[in-house]
Amino acid sequence: MTGSRLHTRLAELFGERCAFGVPMAPLTTWQVGGPADCLLRPVTAEEIAEVVRLCTAENETFRVFGACSNLLILDGGLRGVTLLMRQGFEKFEPEFRDGGEVVLTVGAALLSQTVVDRSAAAGIDGLQFISGVPGTIGGGIRMNAGTYLGDFSQVLREITVVDADGKIRRVPRDKLVYRYRGLVLDGSFVVTEAKLELRRGEAAKIRAEVDAIIASRHSRHPWDLPSGGSTFKNPENDHAGRLIEAAGLKGFQIGGARVSEKHANFLVNVGQAKAADILALIEHVRQTVYDRFGIWLDPEVKILGERDVQG
Ligand SMILES: Cc1cc2nc3c(=O)[nH]c(=O)nc-3n(C[C@H](O)[C@H](O)[C@H](O)COP(=O)(O)OP(=O)(O)OC[C@H]3O[C@@H](n4cnc5c(N)ncnc54)[C@H](O)[C@@H]3O)c2cc1C
Repeated sequence: MTGSRLHTRLAELFGERCAFGVPMAPLTTWQVGGPADCLLRPVTAEEIAEVVRLCTAENETFRVFGACSNLLILDGGLRGVTLLMRQGFEKFEPEFRDGGEVVLTVGAALLSQTVVDRSAAAGIDGLQFISGVPGTIGGGIRMNAGTYLGDFSQVLREITVVDADGKIRRVPRDKLVYRYRGLVLDGSFVVTEAKLELRRGEAAKIRAEVDAIIASRHSRHPWDLPSGGSTFKNPENDHAGRLIEAAGLKGFQIGGARVSEKHANFLVNVGQAKAADILALIEHVRQTVYDRFGIWLDPEVKILGERDVQG
């Protein structure tokens, strides 16, 4: 099967949920990024498994995204096949057990905040840590997303994935290995569902906690401008934002990309930024912080795609 025959086959399988040359900028929270050659919107694990098998057989690259809130997609766009998980995979099934334990099964395409809201309403305690964090459950698990209040590693009981062989399988908690802002899974694993270990709580109290966390986040972060959240990981025993601010970079701007005045670890798109502007700003910030403090900041956001714009 040639590249174009693969595209023809995927178009047959996915119908209107398959598109070619799709601009990614409107789909990302940073509002930048060139086109995806082939964008698929799967709604079942079997569809993902079929894509994995077809792409593997053709030696074609594939990747999966959720809400694209942790991605810098470069202006030249994405080759290969991109799976976007924003529909289907929307299960929300709590199982209330004796002793106050709740096992909550959630689909990977649900927004984390939706799960927080529905859990609060159902009196399920334990997900407040992810309040106000954009992104899907799948992206959150892959990134081990969280805050100073906790992260996904603390609540995961099991995940269901499509593996690199296109097999759907369950991975229990004791086989999951985490690092700071990342679950160590083979990059080609696609998370489709998760079981979370939570507990019963008082709905009104949980709701009040969630609202307080969101209000606090809004007061500290620049929510009014497109961004990718925290751009750099915090180095050990320090904060990337503190270092960037101490290097005098708040408000520093390249093209349409600026170091936020509100929180220096947020690089915001102040309008019409290109991914190239953000990338240049990332490189400038890293170099300046290194020259000043000898600390080499590691990006938390995933930088993907090609720099050069085609044609
Ligand atoms: C304003 C703002 C604030 C933020 N605050 C925080 C914060 O406080 N804490 C925090 O941890 N993060 C934060 N983030 C980053 C981001 O929201 C989280 O990392 C989020 O969980 C990413 O989910 P996503 O669906 O957007 O993933 P994407 O950005 O779409 O993808 C991120 C990574 O996950 C992979 N992925 C996505 N879906 C799947 C899947 N189903 N299976 C396997 N891999 C998958 C992708 O391939 C990619 O490698 C913030 C972002 C923004 C824009």
